[in-house]
Amino acid sequence: MPRKIVLQDFEAPSHDHNTCVSDAIHRAEKLCVERGEKFTPLRRTILELLWSSHQPVKAYDLLAQLALTHDRPAPTTVYRTLEFLEDVGVVHKLESMNSYIGCAAPERSHQGQFLICDQCGVVAELDDDVVSTRIETNAKRIGFKVKIETIEISGTCRACQLQ
Ligand SMILES: [Zn+2]
Ligand SMILES: [Zn+2]
Ligand SMILES: [Zn+2]
Repeated sequence: MPRKIVLQDFEAPSHDHNTCVSDAIHRAEKLCVERGEKFTPLRRTILELLWSSHQPVKAYDLLAQLALTHDRPAPTTVYRTLEFLEDVGVVHKLESMNSYIGCAAPERSHQGQFLICDQCGVVAELDDDVVSTRIETNAKRIGFKVKIETIEISGTCRACQLQ
C-alpha cells in the first residue's frame, strides 16, 4: 500500500486561506455530485462557516451564526447536515472539543489525526496511513473491531510557540 501523508501547514508563509476555502468547497461539491447527492445551499453555508478559520466550530456556535441569516434552519436540520457532511468525508468531528472541522483531503476515507493547539485552538490535520494501519492491525490482533479511530493530539502550534 503506498504511503500517504497529508499534513496541513497553514502557518507557512505561503498559506493562502482563500484557496483553502475555495478548494474545500469545490471538493465537497464534487464528492456530493459523485454520490448523486445535491450540494444544497445549507450544506455549502455550513461548510463555509466551518472553513472560516482553521479552528474547529461547536454546533451551537454554528447555530448562532446561522440564526443571523433570514432562513434560519432548525437545529435538527443543522445536525443532520453535519452528519451528512461527516458521512461524505468533508467534515470531521473532534470529540474532545465537541466541535467540527473541515477536512482538507476528503477524497479517500480516513479518520485522521489532529494536532490541536491548546493555546489558540487551531487544528492541523495529519492524515498518515501508517498510523491508521497500525491501529487496525493491532486492534485486530486482540479481536477488537475499530469504529472511530480519530486521534486528537494536544500541544502548541508554531505561532503560539513564538509568542
Ligand atoms: Zn487555510
Ligand atoms: Zn480529513
Ligand atoms: Zn496556537
